[in-house]
Amino acid sequence: KEHPAQPSNETVTAAPQKPKKKWGPTLTPKHQTERQQLPIYQARDAIVHAIKRNPTVIIVGETGSGKTTQIPQFLLEADLAQFGAIAVTQPRRVAATSLARRVAEEAGSRLGHRVGYTVRFDDMSCPATKIKYLTDGMLMREILADPLLHRYNYVILDEAHERTLRTDVLFGMLKQIQKERARMVQVNRAEWQKSHSDKPTGPDTTEKQLPDSDPAPTNGDNQATETNDTSVSTSDKRSKRKFVNELKIVVMSATLDAERFSEYFDHARILYVAGRQYPVRIFNAVEPQNDYLDAALVTSLQIHTEQGPGDILLFLSGQEEIESLEKLLLDQRSQLPPNSMDLLVCPIYAALPAAQQAKVFNPTPPNARKIILATNIAETSLTIPGIRYVVDTGVHKIRGYSSRIGIESLLVAPVSKSAARQRAGRAGREAMGYCYRLYTEDTFDELEEDTVPEILRCNLAAATLQLKASGIDDVLGFDYMDRPPKVAMLRALEQLYALGALDDQGKLSKLGRWMAEFPLDPSYAKVLHASQELGCTTEVIDVIALFSIDTLFFMPFDKREEAAEARRKFMHGDGDHLTYLNLQKAYMEVKGDSSWCHDHFVNGRGMRHVQDVRKQIRQVCQRMGVNPNASCGTDFDKVLQCFIRGFFNHTALLQPDGSYKSVVGSQIVHIHPSSSLFGQRREAIFYNELIFTSKLYIRGVSAIQANWIPEAAPRYFQQKSHMLPSQS
Ligand code: ADP
Ligand code: MG
Repeated sequence: KEHPAQPSNETVTAAPQKPKKKWGPTLTPKHQTERQQLPIYQARDAIVHAIKRNPTVIIVGETGSGKTTQIPQFLLEADLAQFGAIAVTQPRRVAATSLARRVAEEAGSRLGHRVGYTVRFDDMSCPATKIKYLTDGMLMREILADPLLHRYNYVILDEAHERTLRTDVLFGMLKQIQKERARMVQVNRAEWQKSHSDKPTGPDTTEKQLPDSDPAPTNGDNQATETNDTSVSTSDKRSKRKFVNELKIVVMSATLDAERFSEYFDHARILYVAGRQYPVRIFNAVEPQNDYLDAALVTSLQIHTEQGPGDILLFLSGQEEIESLEKLLLDQRSQLPPNSMDLLVCPIYAALPAAQQAKVFNPTPPNARKIILATNIAETSLTIPGIRYVVDTGVHKIRGYSSRIGIESLLVAPVSKSAARQRAGRAGREAMGYCYRLYTEDTFDELEEDTVPEILRCNLAAATLQLKASGIDDVLGFDYMDRPPKVAMLRALEQLYALGALDDQGKLSKLGRWMAEFPLDPSYAKVLHASQELGCTTEVIDVIALFSIDTLFFMPFDKREEAAEARRKFMHGDGDHLTYLNLQKAYMEVKGDSSWCHDHFVNGRGMRHVQDVRKQIRQVCQRMGVNPNASCGTDFDKVLQCFIRGFFNHTALLQPDGSYKSVVGSQIVHIHPSSSLFGQRREAIFYNELIFTSKLYIRGVSAIQANWIPEAAPRYFQQKSHMLPSQS
């Protein structure tokens, strides 16, 4: 009631009478009405009030209720962002850019002026930007450059339920920054009061000039009452003091355990925003589907030809799947019955050009149906109007480190129950809807309740390296929301030290900083680093990429002999790494031909995936000034030597009885039957992974010379020389 909204071109602000305000939002009537119809609009005053009164607020509200687009605007309109900007973090860059575009339009700003975004390699913001959408990785970078984030008055941590490593790290860092800024505000305030206590204005005025959410008036930029006042003897000291105000944190999500978050953020205030949700009828597959892409195609065409109007939203794991389904759907479109509606296929994923991304928001023309092929971007980050049918494959790609080579964001995994519910919910935004799950009810029951925080599922050495690189020296003492086990963290630190990523003081070394740039497990990053010195980067990238997937060769039960025969063509006498390299060469020669893959029992889909990973690593190399084309020709020993620089702790020596004993830990390890070295006796071997089933099996095995081992990690073996049996 205090700030009535006006349904016209008028500005809507908390203090419209203030003449000095020159940037009031100029809303188009259309957007104005749309905004007022969002559920969150009702809660506007309560939200602004809560944020004003509390250092941290947690806001939970149904997807599409208007949290991400409206709350920053509420703060701006209430004149609360005069002394600092509003940062809104997003786990994905598509969300950051597309939301910024929308909000700029609503707020009548040119994109990059008052409303903007910053994502890696793309900055649409300026010093005057008041609302800035940015990826959590970018905010972390900003903290490195400006440790107290002086530029911001508010940091809104959006999609907090995703619990990526980066969001978790940001939680801890922002808590610290908030405390430090609160302390500085206190100090400034006390000093200001002291220096003004003998002035005629008296304590009353002091009180008035210090409302609790406003900055202490020691602002270097805001000097009207301060530095002009040259008569005050302390003015010198004061003018040097840096302007500080409190940092407000807002944590938002559609689906999170608010109590837990509140506890972590020092018992922060929780606000629940009532949403609008119609019932959604859920259908499960009766039997498990072995090809969910095919099931997705059939199901969507069935909806299109048999069901009433309304758009379809189809959740897939990533770009590759979206593109192949798009092709299939376009093929089918021409064969639809003549009287059926037209079918518009709209993909949306991170790498899609912005103009095409925007297409999903265009209204569907009459007598047509849109089918949106999306990644989990459409689960909670973006709300697309008009959806009545959801088709859920039950999978997503999670950003994280795959257990194998630790490459980022390439892991296709089942979604959690809460994600599946979010997906279904997208069908019931405007009317009653339908959700088709392409998995059985039993499968649903077996899903995790929530996505496990990345910090608990990823490779801890990689996570620790990232923490160190983001400026957290004391990784053991850091304020985690979910703390990994201490022994595991110590082991990770030890490994990083042995790899040379940390110095004697435990600080990140130059090599460590280099390694942190690669989205790879630190062992693989070290291998890549060594490849520069030994001149075989091309080969090493290929091998690493090939190890990113589980099964390169198929071994169908009924065609074992044929498959083994096909595989022998690629076999290299020194083991799996060079065998893989042969496979990649052959694959390139036939340009990834899929019938060739089929004939050679090669996992074609897996190989396409490998090419993506390969491309990704090559790109990072280029950016880091590493030549990805440096080749060792046929001197393959070099490739293996690079590998043991990163895997020195995964080496084993042949024993007189024919078994292999690990150099570190002295355990008997067994070469896995899937390895090309299975059953062979070689002086020394190294391996990529150790798997524990009935025995300790090793996979990804190659033969090396025993005397390469101590050279591979001098720092490690100097300290633990007793562990090396024979230095021949
Ligand atoms: P929440 O963050 O609570 O999930 P949002 O603020 O993202 O909600 O969305 C609020 C509304 O704005 C939704 O109804 C959505 O359809 C609309 N919207 C968001 N982005 C766009 C866009 N680029 N084009 C059209 N409408 C949009
Ligand atoms: Mg949102």
